[in-house]
Amino acid sequence: MDYKNFWLSILRRLEPTISKSQFLTWFQNTAALTIENETLVVGVPTNFARDWIVQKYALKILQAAEEENSKIKEVEIEVDAALGDGIDPRTIDLRAVFAKPGDKKVYKARGHEEVILTRSGILSAKLNPRYTLANFVPGDENRLAHAAALSVARLPGQTYNPLVIYGGVGLGKTHLLSAIGHEVLTNDPNKIVAFTTSEIFTREFVAASKKFQADEFKKKFRDIDVLLFDDVQFLENRDKTQIELFNIFNDLHEKGKQLVFTSDRPPSELTEVMDRLRSRLTWGLVCEIEQPSFQSRLEILKSKTQERRAILDPDILEFIAMNVSDSVRSLESALAWSIAQTELLKIQPTVRELGKMLEKVNKKERVLGLPENSPEISVQTPAELIELVSKHFDLPIAEICGTSRKKEFQVARQITMYLAREILGCSLTEIAQNFQKDHSTVLHSVRKITADLQKDATLVRKINSVKKEMGL
Ligand code: ADP
Ligand code: MG
Repeated sequence: MDYKNFWLSILRRLEPTISKSQFLTWFQNTAALTIENETLVVGVPTNFARDWIVQKYALKILQAAEEENSKIKEVEIEVDAALGDGIDPRTIDLRAVFAKPGDKKVYKARGHEEVILTRSGILSAKLNPRYTLANFVPGDENRLAHAAALSVARLPGQTYNPLVIYGGVGLGKTHLLSAIGHEVLTNDPNKIVAFTTSEIFTREFVAASKKFQADEFKKKFRDIDVLLFDDVQFLENRDKTQIELFNIFNDLHEKGKQLVFTSDRPPSELTEVMDRLRSRLTWGLVCEIEQPSFQSRLEILKSKTQERRAILDPDILEFIAMNVSDSVRSLESALAWSIAQTELLKIQPTVRELGKMLEKVNKKERVLGLPENSPEISVQTPAELIELVSKHFDLPIAEICGTSRKKEFQVARQITMYLAREILGCSLTEIAQNFQKDHSTVLHSVRKITADLQKDATLVRKINSVKKEMGL
């Protein structure tokens, strides 16, 4: 039996008999759990809700349930705390299901994504929850666009209207556009924000036209406070859709509603967009997002590394910033690769390894910033490695192999064991022999370093500096 649908039909019967706020308060996060013999078991998230519902609504629930299924003779209310987290799949999102036309509304959908709907249920794409102003890194290349986005989000319709942001692929246009939406909603959750793209807009318009509902389609846009329109260049050569957008534009603009567009070109170069629409795109403010400079690329990488709570050697970030310059999206891929190496393989990639990866991916002729003339020391055995570590950290071999618990010695010892295992591929027994320790001490050291590498940036640097000397 589909309990969810069953519960929904019961709620549909209850809803008209209870005030809206009471209904939402008490029935959000409830579910039909099961039917045992003649008893419907209803789950609610808290004891408090249970007591209240038993007192006030149990009878109504029973009546409704009987009407749906005459076998039911009893209702039992049970507490199931898991229902309270708001995303339990057994529950129904009442705000969405019972929204009435005329309820101005924007609702947070279940799960973590936000869905933006107008009251007529139109529209559209989701605002990507990761694309916020807080994690947009401002730089010289986007300073104007960023400032304009802030201003438009604070005072929709009152500053630059329309705002047009243009620039190449992967430079942050969609991010900034979505961020405006989030910001508007944060400032005023009752605002209706519609996010759409040329593709979605066209698809919806064509579908509506086929059903002779073009007027309906237009009406749906009437109540929007902010229209976010991504990649307007894809409307080129779609004349009917352009006319539709033109009309909606005029209507919203006249009412002082905010319009924001993104495009891969400045409006003047949208040659296949009809003159009237193209000229309107230049009414407000047109700003460009350019390619980020080295400094900005580095800032973006730092910010994304933090966001992912990853630890990477600063050399690696610099190296990526130096070699990946075409778009922020490519920066993100190189960074994701590096983070995956550290998280999945538990090793920090060296600049050389990363260089190889970039060469493969980008087919770049020359990778910049590789350590040149780096010493070609080929370390093969644990003994050689011990010697190298001893020189590198300027510590006596006897201490590295000894038993001193002094932090400095201990760390060098563990690092050496770790590298012998991970880089030289020595067996635990072999390493144990070189250090005159037992095999479980070696295992412990390797595990400790592996774990610490995930949280200790200094250790990462130390190990990478040794790896560099090993010619890696
Ligand atoms: P576009 O729409 O211009 O093709 P996107 O907005 O999709 O580009 O951006 C591509 C990726 O780069 C996204 O993951 C976005 O978060 C990121 N990004 C772009 N610019 C920035 C920035 N200035 N700060 C932080 N992230 C950015
Ligand atoms: Mg985009």
